[in-house]
Order: sequence, then structure tokens, then C-alpha cells
Amino acid sequence: MSDSNRLRIAVQKSGRLSDDSIALLKAIGIKLQIRDRLLIAHSTNQPIDLLLVRDDDIPGLVMDGVVDLGFIGENELEEKMLERQAAGKQHEYIELRRLDYGGCRLSIAVPNEFNYQGVQSLAGKKVATTYPFLLERFFKEQNVEAKAVMLTGSVEVAPRAGVADAICDLVSTGATLEANGLHEEDVIFRSKAVFIQRAGELTEAKQSLINKLLPRIDGVIQAKESKYIMLHAPLAYLEQVKSLLPGSENPTVLPLAGNDKTVAIHVVSPENLFWETMEKLKALGCSSILVMPIEKMMN
Ligand code: ATP
Ligand code: MG
Repeated sequence: MSDSNRLRIAVQKSGRLSDDSIALLKAIGIKLQIRDRLLIAHSTNQPIDLLLVRDDDIPGLVMDGVVDLGFIGENELEEKMLERQAAGKQHEYIELRRLDYGGCRLSIAVPNEFNYQGVQSLAGKKVATTYPFLLERFFKEQNVEAKAVMLTGSVEVAPRAGVADAICDLVSTGATLEANGLHEEDVIFRSKAVFIQRAGELTEAKQSLINKLLPRIDGVIQAKESKYIMLHAPLAYLEQVKSLLPGSENPTVLPLAGNDKTVAIHVVSPENLFWETMEKLKALGCSSILVMPIEKMMN
């Protein structure tokens, strides 16, 4: 029996969300020893256990309260939520953070010879998908009488196999669709990975640990989007230089030894510096322009 004081987090065992979710946990200071083929991994420095499972199981584990937290794609989460709601099962959860990975879209795709004139063209047709609840909801919103046919795999071969007229599947580049003589028409859902918590109260110790982890997650996400910019600028153009630097109302301006016409500027920018901006800075007489990644930050 596991120690109920340890926070339990469900993570996809192996797939598109695994590496980023585990990297995020490590980045927020959780030391993990993950051994192949084991369902559970213990943190060596925090009262945290990871449950490594198929992504399909994560929404249910959180909603049933088997785990306290989970990392999951919104597509899978929303589908399972609708499925459980329809079955009268517990379907509540708390979304803690939307994350910056796992981006994809759930789209309707049709065979190239299909004369698609908008969603209405699907009236009376069969659409194969792994996400029947999301698709049925979309049909209802659009007032289209079409039928979702549930397939757990190889959705993209359904039209050729005569099982369906069109498909609704996750797309990133469209290469799989193209290889199967299909093309994307309508996006029905845009998804990213999210960090969720089970509904209901947790023990004080667990909740305070979560409250400590969340600002760290924010710090990691913010750091990824931010850059540390350093450059030498002519004092005469300080204002123009500052106006070119994103988010630099109050940059650090430092004197340079033996040079009273030039200063060093340091700034944490909330966004990257584009080549075009760097070229403009150079044209103003700036030099030694450095754009550096930030690993962690706390405001
Ligand atoms: P499991 O064996 O855990 O059930 P799976 O095959 O269902 O894995 P993956 O292909 O690893 O799942 O995708 C997991 C999630 O990653 C998707 O549900 C989606 O949220 C996200 N994702 C991000 N990009 C893509 C993509 N290009 N195609 C499919 N899913 C993607
Ligand atoms: Mg899955």
C-alpha cells in the first residue's frame, strides 16, 4: 500500500507528452529515478510519486481521485470528460496550468476527391475518429446530421477501407493525411498539454506542496519565453536603443571603464530579439549584442 501522504502525479509512460512532462518536473526541482517498465517512480527529494500510464487513463485517474495531479493533452481530457459526463460518472477536475508543449489540432479531413463545401457537406456521412464525443459536440454546435464512427487506431485508412467518408484526427504537419490521399478541412479543437488536479480537498501538506510547485512551473515557462540581452550602446542614442528593446522600461545601464561615450545595457526581455531589431541596434552604433537563454526566473 502506498503512503497516502505522498503526492501522486500521473504522467504518460511513453509518447508525445512523456519527455516534456518529465523534463518539467525535473526543471522544478523534483529528482526522479525512472526505471523502465515500472508503473511507479518515486522522487528521491520530495514526497512525490509518479504513476506512468497510457495517456487515455490519466483523465479518469484524476477524476476518480486515484492520483492528485496529472499531465494530459486537452483533447484527451475534454473527450474523457464528455464521455464520463454522458455516463453519469464523476467528471470534475481543476485546471492548474496550461503548458507550452503538446500542441496539436483535431481536424476534419476528407479524401482528395471529396467535394467539401464546409461542414454541411458532411450531412448524412460517416466520420471516423478516436474522439467521438468532441466530434458529436461539434456536429451539434454546427447543426449537422453526421455520424461519428469510433476507431481507436488507423483512423486515416478508414475512408479507403470504406468504413467512413471522412475522418477527424489529430494533425500536426498533415504528412500522414497526405500519404493517405486526405487533406485537412476544418479544425474542431486546438489542444495543448495541461496540468490538472483532482477536485475536492487535499491534505494541507499536499496542497501546500502544490502551491510551492506552481510558481516554479510559472518560472520555468516564463524563463523559456524570456531572454537576457546584453549590449554596448552609444550614450547619445540611449533612448532610441531602449525603445528598440522589448519590455525594457528600466534596463540596467552600466558605465564602461575608460569610455564615457558608451554604456553597457542589460535587460531581461519577455520575448526573443529578432535579427531585424539587432540590425537596427547595430545601425545606431551598438556592439557586442548578446541574446542569452534564461534557465529559471522568479519575479
Ligand atoms: P498512449 O500509448 O499513452 O495511449 P497515444 O498513442 O495515445 O499514447 P501520443 O501519440 O503519444 O498518444 O499523443 C499523446 C498526446 O500528445 C495527444 O493526445 C495530444 O494531446 C498530444 N500531441 C501533440 N502533438 C501531437 C501530434 N502531432 N499528433 C498526435 N498527438 C499529439
Ligand atoms: Mg492514448
